[in-house]
Amino acid sequence: MMPQTYQDEAIIIEAELSAMAEKIAIDLETFILRMKLTGVGDDIITSTLFTDLKEGGVLFGQFKNGIKNITKDAIHNVANISAEKEFRMAGIDTFMWVTVSGKPCPDCDGRAGEVGTKEYFDAIGNPKSGFSVCGRHCKCQLEPATYKGDTKISR
Ligand SMILES: [Zn+2]
Repeated sequence: MMPQTYQDEAIIIEAELSAMAEKIAIDLETFILRMKLTGVGDDIITSTLFTDLKEGGVLFGQFKNGIKNITKDAIHNVANISAEKEFRMAGIDTFMWVTVSGKPCPDCDGRAGEVGTKEYFDAIGNPKSGFSVCGRHCKCQLEPATYKGDTKISR
C-alpha cells in the first residue's frame, strides 16, 4: 500500500471544498426559489441573504464552518503525513493506535493501544480514513510502537 502523500491530501481538500461549495449553491438556489414562489419580493430576499451573510446564518454559516473544518482537518493530515515520513526514514515499522481526543468515538476507542505495521493499519483503516464514526474529524494518531506514553491522550 502506498503511503498517503501531500498530493493525495490536496486532492481530498479540493474535492471537499468543491462538494461544500456545490451544496451551498444548491441551498442558496432552493432558499431563493422558495421565497420567490411564496411571493417574497426581491428586496426582501436580498436583505435576508445579506443578514445571513453578516450574521453567519443557516446558509453562510455552514460555509464558514465548512472552511474551518476542512482547513483544520487538512493541517492535521499534513502533519500526520510528515510524521509518517520521519518514522519511515527512522526505520520504524510498527505502530500503536493512540486516541488523542478526550471522548473518542466507539470505533477509535476499540482501537486504543492496538499495535501493527503500517500495512496492517492501511488495510483496516487509518485515523481519518473514514472507517470510523468520527470520519475525517478523527484525531487519533499512529505512534511508533516503542511509544511509552498513555494510549489515550487528552490534548
Ligand atoms: Zn474516532
